[in-house]
Amino acid sequence: MQRVFSGIQPTGNIHIGNYLGAIKNWVELQHKYESLFCIVDYHAITVEYEPELLHKRVLELAATLIASGIDPEKSVLFVQSSVPEHTELTWLFTCITSIGALERMTQFKEKAERHKGAVFAGLMNYPVLMASDILIYKAEVVPVGEDQIQHLELTREIARRFNSMFGEVFPEPQPILTKTARIMALNDPTSKMSKSIEGSYIAMDDDDDTIRKKIRRAVTDVGPQGGEMGPGVKNLFTLLEAFAEPALVERFRADYANQTLRYADLKYELGEAIVRALAPIRERTFDLLAKQAELMEILDAGAKQARKLAQATMEEVREAMGFKMPVA
Ligand code: ADP
Repeated sequence: MQRVFSGIQPTGNIHIGNYLGAIKNWVELQHKYESLFCIVDYHAITVEYEPELLHKRVLELAATLIASGIDPEKSVLFVQSSVPEHTELTWLFTCITSIGALERMTQFKEKAERHKGAVFAGLMNYPVLMASDILIYKAEVVPVGEDQIQHLELTREIARRFNSMFGEVFPEPQPILTKTARIMALNDPTSKMSKSIEGSYIAMDDDDDTIRKKIRRAVTDVGPQGGEMGPGVKNLFTLLEAFAEPALVERFRADYANQTLRYADLKYELGEAIVRALAPIRERTFDLLAKQAELMEILDAGAKQARKLAQATMEEVREAMGFKMPVA
Protein backbone atom coordinates (compact mmCIF):
# COMPACT_ATOMS: atom_id res chain seq x y z
CA MET A 1 0.00 0.00 0.00
CA GLN A 2 1.27 3.46 -0.87
CA ARG A 3 1.46 6.04 1.87
CA VAL A 4 -0.58 9.23 1.73
CA PHE A 5 -0.09 12.37 3.81
CA SER A 6 -2.43 15.32 4.08
CA GLY A 7 -2.80 18.23 6.46
CA ILE A 8 -5.53 20.64 7.42
CA GLN A 9 -5.21 23.86 9.41
CA PRO A 10 -7.12 24.36 12.65
CA THR A 11 -8.20 27.86 11.76
CA GLY A 12 -11.81 27.67 12.93
CA ASN A 13 -15.24 27.67 11.32
CA ILE A 14 -14.93 24.40 9.44
CA HIS A 15 -17.45 24.62 6.61
CA ILE A 16 -19.03 22.45 3.94
CA GLY A 17 -16.42 23.65 1.43
CA ASN A 18 -13.72 22.07 3.62
CA TYR A 19 -15.91 18.99 4.08
CA LEU A 20 -16.55 18.44 0.38
CA GLY A 21 -13.17 19.70 -0.84
CA ALA A 22 -10.92 17.93 1.65
CA ILE A 23 -12.40 15.89 4.49
CA LYS A 24 -14.74 13.67 2.45
CA ASN A 25 -11.89 12.88 0.12
CA TRP A 26 -9.70 11.80 3.05
CA VAL A 27 -12.42 9.47 4.24
CA GLU A 28 -12.25 7.68 0.88
CA LEU A 29 -8.46 7.71 0.70
CA GLN A 30 -8.03 5.93 4.03
CA HIS A 31 -9.41 2.75 2.44
CA LYS A 32 -6.93 2.81 -0.43
CA TYR A 33 -3.74 4.05 1.19
CA GLU A 34 -1.78 3.84 4.38
CA SER A 35 -2.96 7.24 5.59
CA LEU A 36 -1.50 9.94 7.78
CA PHE A 37 -3.80 12.88 8.44
CA CYS A 38 -2.39 15.80 10.31
CA ILE A 39 -3.92 18.82 12.01
CA VAL A 40 -1.24 21.32 11.09
CA ASP A 41 -1.31 23.76 13.97
CA TYR A 42 2.19 25.09 13.26
CA HIS A 43 0.91 26.21 9.88
CA ALA A 44 -1.90 28.12 11.53
CA ILE A 45 0.44 30.62 13.21
CA THR A 46 2.09 32.11 10.12
CA VAL A 47 -0.39 34.98 10.26
CA GLU A 48 -1.96 36.60 13.31
CA TYR A 49 -3.96 34.16 15.45
CA GLU A 50 -5.48 33.88 18.89
CA PRO A 51 -3.36 31.64 21.18
CA GLU A 52 -6.20 31.12 23.66
CA LEU A 53 -8.38 29.67 20.87
CA LEU A 54 -5.78 27.46 19.20
CA HIS A 55 -6.25 24.35 21.32
CA LYS A 56 -10.03 24.58 21.15
CA ARG A 57 -9.82 24.74 17.36
CA VAL A 58 -7.49 21.77 17.20
CA LEU A 59 -9.96 19.68 19.21
CA GLU A 60 -12.95 20.89 17.20
CA LEU A 61 -11.24 19.98 13.98
CA ALA A 62 -10.19 16.58 15.31
CA ALA A 63 -13.75 15.87 16.45
CA THR A 64 -15.17 16.98 13.11
CA LEU A 65 -12.73 14.79 11.19
CA ILE A 66 -13.57 11.71 13.22
CA ALA A 67 -17.29 12.47 13.11
CA SER A 68 -17.04 12.82 9.32
CA GLY A 69 -15.60 9.34 8.99
CA ILE A 70 -11.84 9.49 9.57
CA ASP A 71 -11.31 6.27 11.46
CA PRO A 72 -8.39 6.52 13.91
CA GLU A 73 -8.07 2.72 13.74
CA LYS A 74 -7.47 2.93 10.01
CA SER A 75 -5.64 6.24 9.66
CA VAL A 76 -3.00 7.90 11.74
CA LEU A 77 -4.70 11.08 12.93
CA PHE A 78 -2.48 13.47 14.86
CA VAL A 79 -1.50 17.03 15.62
CA GLN A 80 1.63 18.45 14.01
CA SER A 81 3.02 20.10 17.15
CA SER A 82 2.98 16.70 18.92
CA VAL A 83 5.74 15.55 16.57
CA PRO A 84 8.62 18.03 16.98
CA GLU A 85 10.66 16.32 14.24
CA HIS A 86 8.58 18.26 11.67
CA THR A 87 10.25 21.48 12.75
CA GLU A 88 13.67 19.87 13.11
CA LEU A 89 13.54 18.75 9.49
CA THR A 90 12.23 22.16 8.47
CA TRP A 91 15.43 23.83 9.64
CA LEU A 92 17.56 21.39 7.67
CA PHE A 93 15.41 21.87 4.56
CA THR A 94 15.53 25.66 5.00
CA CYS A 95 19.26 25.38 4.41
CA ILE A 96 18.77 23.81 0.98
CA THR A 97 15.85 25.95 -0.23
CA SER A 98 16.46 29.16 -2.12
CA ILE A 99 14.80 32.36 -0.97
CA GLY A 100 13.94 33.10 -4.59
CA ALA A 101 11.87 29.95 -4.91
CA LEU A 102 9.94 30.82 -1.76
CA GLU A 103 9.36 34.41 -2.86
CA ARG A 104 7.92 33.15 -6.13
CA MET A 105 5.16 31.14 -4.44
CA THR A 106 1.79 32.55 -5.47
CA GLN A 107 0.21 31.99 -2.06
CA PHE A 108 3.08 33.78 -0.32
CA LYS A 109 2.75 36.76 -2.64
CA GLU A 110 -0.99 36.95 -2.02
CA LYS A 111 -0.75 36.55 1.74
CA ALA A 112 2.17 38.95 2.01
CA GLU A 113 0.05 41.52 0.21
CA ARG A 114 -2.95 40.87 2.47
CA HIS A 115 -0.97 41.03 5.71
CA LYS A 116 1.23 43.97 4.75
CA GLY A 117 3.16 45.32 7.70
CA ALA A 118 3.22 41.94 9.49
CA VAL A 119 4.97 39.61 7.08
CA PHE A 120 7.15 37.29 9.08
CA ALA A 121 9.68 34.73 7.87
CA GLY A 122 7.30 31.91 8.84
CA LEU A 123 4.90 33.00 6.13
CA MET A 124 7.60 32.64 3.52
CA ASN A 125 8.94 29.39 4.97
CA TYR A 126 5.50 27.80 5.15
CA PRO A 127 6.13 25.61 2.08
CA VAL A 128 9.35 24.29 3.69
CA LEU A 129 7.38 23.17 6.74
CA MET A 130 4.88 21.59 4.37
CA ALA A 131 7.69 19.75 2.58
CA SER A 132 8.90 18.45 5.95
CA ASP A 133 5.38 17.32 6.93
CA ILE A 134 5.20 15.21 3.79
CA LEU A 135 8.76 14.00 3.42
CA ILE A 136 9.34 13.08 7.04
CA TYR A 137 6.86 10.25 6.44
CA LYS A 138 8.25 9.51 2.97
CA ALA A 139 4.70 9.89 1.72
CA GLU A 140 4.33 8.83 -1.90
CA VAL A 141 1.06 10.59 -2.61
CA VAL A 142 -0.46 13.85 -1.46
CA PRO A 143 -4.04 14.90 -2.20
CA VAL A 144 -4.00 18.56 -3.19
CA GLY A 145 -6.26 21.24 -4.51
CA GLU A 146 -5.10 23.40 -7.44
CA ASP A 147 -3.73 26.01 -5.05
CA GLN A 148 -1.30 23.58 -3.43
CA ILE A 149 0.22 22.18 -6.64
CA GLN A 150 2.99 24.77 -6.61
CA HIS A 151 3.90 23.95 -3.00
CA LEU A 152 4.00 20.25 -3.76
CA GLU A 153 6.29 20.91 -6.71
CA LEU A 154 8.64 22.69 -4.29
CA THR A 155 8.45 19.65 -1.98
CA ARG A 156 9.57 17.49 -4.90
CA GLU A 157 12.40 19.91 -5.65
CA ILE A 158 13.56 19.80 -2.03
CA ALA A 159 13.50 15.98 -2.08
CA ARG A 160 15.55 15.95 -5.30
CA ARG A 161 18.07 18.46 -3.99
CA PHE A 162 18.46 16.61 -0.70
CA ASN A 163 18.94 13.28 -2.46
CA SER A 164 21.52 14.67 -4.85
CA MET A 165 23.48 16.42 -2.08
CA PHE A 166 23.33 13.81 0.67
CA GLY A 167 22.23 10.53 -0.92
CA GLU A 168 18.90 8.92 -1.68
CA VAL A 169 16.59 9.35 1.33
CA PHE A 170 13.29 10.78 0.07
CA PRO A 171 10.77 9.70 -2.55
CA GLU A 172 9.30 12.42 -4.78
CA PRO A 173 5.67 12.54 -3.72
CA GLN A 174 3.01 12.57 -6.43
CA PRO A 175 -0.04 14.83 -6.28
CA ILE A 176 -3.51 13.39 -6.55
CA LEU A 177 -5.66 16.24 -7.65
CA THR A 178 -8.86 16.46 -5.62
CA LYS A 179 -11.70 16.12 -8.05
CA THR A 180 -14.52 17.80 -6.12
CA ALA A 181 -15.75 21.04 -7.56
CA ARG A 182 -14.91 24.22 -5.76
CA ILE A 183 -17.82 25.28 -3.58
CA MET A 184 -18.70 28.92 -4.06
CA ALA A 185 -19.81 31.50 -1.49
CA LEU A 186 -23.56 31.42 -0.86
CA ASN A 187 -23.73 35.21 -0.72
CA ASP A 188 -21.42 35.79 -3.69
CA PRO A 189 -21.13 32.78 -6.01
CA THR A 190 -18.29 34.37 -7.94
CA SER A 191 -15.85 33.85 -5.05
CA LYS A 192 -15.14 30.64 -3.18
CA MET A 193 -16.85 29.67 0.03
CA SER A 194 -14.42 30.62 2.78
CA LYS A 195 -14.36 31.00 6.53
CA SER A 196 -12.91 34.45 6.04
CA ILE A 197 -16.03 35.67 4.20
CA GLU A 198 -18.94 36.08 6.60
CA GLY A 199 -22.20 34.85 5.09
CA SER A 200 -20.41 32.74 2.50
CA TYR A 201 -20.46 29.41 4.28
CA ILE A 202 -22.47 26.78 6.09
CA ALA A 203 -20.41 25.73 9.11
CA MET A 204 -20.24 22.07 10.03
CA ASP A 205 -21.75 22.94 13.41
CA ASP A 206 -24.59 25.12 12.16
CA ASP A 207 -27.95 23.91 13.48
CA ASP A 208 -30.73 22.68 11.19
CA ASP A 209 -32.60 25.96 10.99
CA THR A 210 -29.46 27.98 10.35
CA ILE A 211 -28.64 25.64 7.46
CA ARG A 212 -32.14 26.02 6.01
CA LYS A 213 -32.04 29.78 6.39
CA LYS A 214 -28.62 30.12 4.75
CA ILE A 215 -29.73 28.06 1.75
CA ARG A 216 -32.97 30.04 1.45
CA ARG A 217 -30.94 33.24 1.29
CA ALA A 218 -28.35 31.94 -1.18
CA VAL A 219 -27.84 34.27 -4.14
CA THR A 220 -29.26 32.83 -7.36
CA ASP A 221 -29.89 35.80 -9.59
CA VAL A 222 -26.43 36.89 -10.71
CA GLY A 223 -24.85 35.91 -14.00
CA PRO A 224 -26.48 35.06 -17.32
CA GLN A 225 -30.09 33.86 -17.17
CA GLY A 226 -31.81 31.49 -19.58
CA GLY A 227 -29.67 28.90 -21.36
CA GLU A 228 -26.48 28.90 -19.35
CA MET A 229 -26.75 28.45 -15.61
CA GLY A 230 -25.75 31.43 -13.48
CA PRO A 231 -22.98 30.82 -10.93
CA GLY A 232 -25.37 30.85 -7.96
CA VAL A 233 -27.71 28.23 -9.39
CA LYS A 234 -24.77 26.18 -10.58
CA ASN A 235 -23.37 26.21 -7.05
CA LEU A 236 -26.71 25.01 -5.65
CA PHE A 237 -26.64 22.13 -8.13
CA THR A 238 -23.09 21.27 -7.10
CA LEU A 239 -24.24 21.11 -3.49
CA LEU A 240 -27.31 19.11 -4.45
CA GLU A 241 -25.11 16.57 -6.23
CA ALA A 242 -22.93 16.29 -3.15
CA PHE A 243 -25.73 15.93 -0.61
CA ALA A 244 -28.90 14.63 -2.31
CA GLU A 245 -30.00 11.44 -4.02
CA PRO A 246 -29.19 11.28 -7.76
CA ALA A 247 -32.91 11.00 -8.62
CA LEU A 248 -33.60 14.37 -7.04
CA VAL A 249 -30.71 15.96 -8.91
CA GLU A 250 -32.02 14.51 -12.18
CA ARG A 251 -35.49 15.86 -11.51
CA PHE A 252 -34.27 19.38 -10.84
CA ARG A 253 -31.95 19.28 -13.85
CA ALA A 254 -34.89 18.32 -16.05
CA ASP A 255 -36.96 21.13 -14.54
CA TYR A 256 -34.14 23.53 -15.24
CA ALA A 257 -33.91 22.39 -18.86
CA ASN A 258 -37.71 22.79 -19.26
CA GLN A 259 -37.52 26.18 -17.60
CA THR A 260 -40.01 25.03 -14.96
CA LEU A 261 -37.55 25.03 -12.08
CA ARG A 262 -38.63 27.07 -9.08
CA TYR A 263 -35.60 28.13 -7.08
CA ALA A 264 -37.65 27.99 -3.86
CA ASP A 265 -38.27 24.25 -4.40
CA LEU A 266 -34.65 23.60 -5.22
CA LYS A 267 -33.55 25.47 -2.10
CA TYR A 268 -36.07 23.68 0.09
CA GLU A 269 -34.93 20.21 -1.01
CA LEU A 270 -31.26 21.19 -0.89
CA GLY A 271 -31.64 22.58 2.62
CA GLU A 272 -33.27 19.35 3.78
CA ALA A 273 -30.58 17.22 2.11
CA ILE A 274 -27.79 19.16 3.81
CA VAL A 275 -29.58 18.96 7.16
CA ARG A 276 -29.90 15.17 6.76
CA ALA A 277 -26.21 14.82 5.96
CA LEU A 278 -24.82 17.19 8.57
CA ALA A 279 -27.03 16.54 11.59
CA PRO A 280 -25.48 13.14 12.48
CA ILE A 281 -21.95 14.47 11.91
CA ARG A 282 -22.68 17.45 14.14
CA GLU A 283 -24.06 15.21 16.88
CA ARG A 284 -21.05 12.92 16.78
CA THR A 285 -18.77 15.97 16.86
CA PHE A 286 -20.48 17.30 19.98
CA ASP A 287 -20.31 13.86 21.63
CA LEU A 288 -16.59 13.64 20.97
CA LEU A 289 -16.01 17.16 22.27
CA ALA A 290 -17.91 16.31 25.44
CA LYS A 291 -15.39 13.53 26.09
CA GLN A 292 -12.28 15.61 25.71
CA ALA A 293 -9.96 13.21 27.50
CA GLU A 294 -10.83 10.43 25.05
CA LEU A 295 -10.32 12.71 22.11
CA MET A 296 -6.92 13.75 23.44
CA GLU A 297 -6.02 10.08 23.85
CA ILE A 298 -6.89 9.31 20.23
CA LEU A 299 -4.68 12.19 19.08
CA ASP A 300 -1.89 11.15 21.41
CA ALA A 301 -1.97 7.58 20.11
CA GLY A 302 -1.84 8.91 16.54
CA ALA A 303 1.08 11.19 17.39
CA LYS A 304 3.02 8.29 18.94
CA GLN A 305 2.60 6.24 15.76
CA ALA A 306 3.56 9.18 13.56
CA ARG A 307 6.51 10.10 15.73
CA LYS A 308 8.05 6.66 15.41
CA LEU A 309 8.10 7.05 11.63
CA ALA A 310 9.35 10.63 11.87
CA GLN A 311 12.18 9.67 14.22
CA ALA A 312 13.33 6.89 11.91
CA THR A 313 13.53 9.35 9.01
CA MET A 314 15.38 11.89 11.15
CA GLU A 315 18.00 9.30 12.05
CA GLU A 316 18.66 8.71 8.37
CA VAL A 317 18.72 12.44 7.66
CA ARG A 318 21.15 13.24 10.48
CA GLU A 319 23.42 10.44 9.38
CA ALA A 320 23.28 11.51 5.72
CA MET A 321 23.98 15.15 6.55
CA GLY A 322 26.92 14.39 8.81
CA PHE A 323 25.44 14.87 12.27
CA LYS A 324 27.01 12.06 14.24
CA MET A 325 26.31 13.17 17.81
CA PRO A 326 23.58 11.15 19.52
CA VAL A 327 20.32 12.89 20.31
CA ALA A 328 20.32 13.46 24.09
P1 ADP B 1 -10.72 28.62 3.87
O1 ADP B 1 -10.68 29.06 2.44
O2 ADP B 1 -12.11 28.60 4.41
O3 ADP B 1 -9.76 29.39 4.71
P2 ADP B 1 -8.74 26.52 3.96
O4 ADP B 1 -7.86 27.30 3.05
O5 ADP B 1 -8.34 26.37 5.39
O6 ADP B 1 -10.25 27.10 3.88
O7 ADP B 1 -8.94 25.08 3.30
C1 ADP B 1 -8.89 23.85 3.96
C2 ADP B 1 -9.18 22.77 2.95
O8 ADP B 1 -10.51 22.88 2.45
C3 ADP B 1 -8.28 22.80 1.72
O9 ADP B 1 -7.99 21.47 1.32
C4 ADP B 1 -9.12 23.49 0.67
O10 ADP B 1 -8.78 23.09 -0.65
C5 ADP B 1 -10.53 23.03 1.04
N1 ADP B 1 -11.49 24.10 0.71
C6 ADP B 1 -11.59 25.29 1.31
N2 ADP B 1 -12.57 26.03 0.79
C7 ADP B 1 -13.13 25.28 -0.19
C8 ADP B 1 -14.20 25.48 -1.12
N3 ADP B 1 -14.89 26.61 -1.13
N4 ADP B 1 -14.50 24.49 -1.98
C9 ADP B 1 -13.80 23.32 -1.98
N5 ADP B 1 -12.79 23.07 -1.14
C10 ADP B 1 -12.44 24.03 -0.26
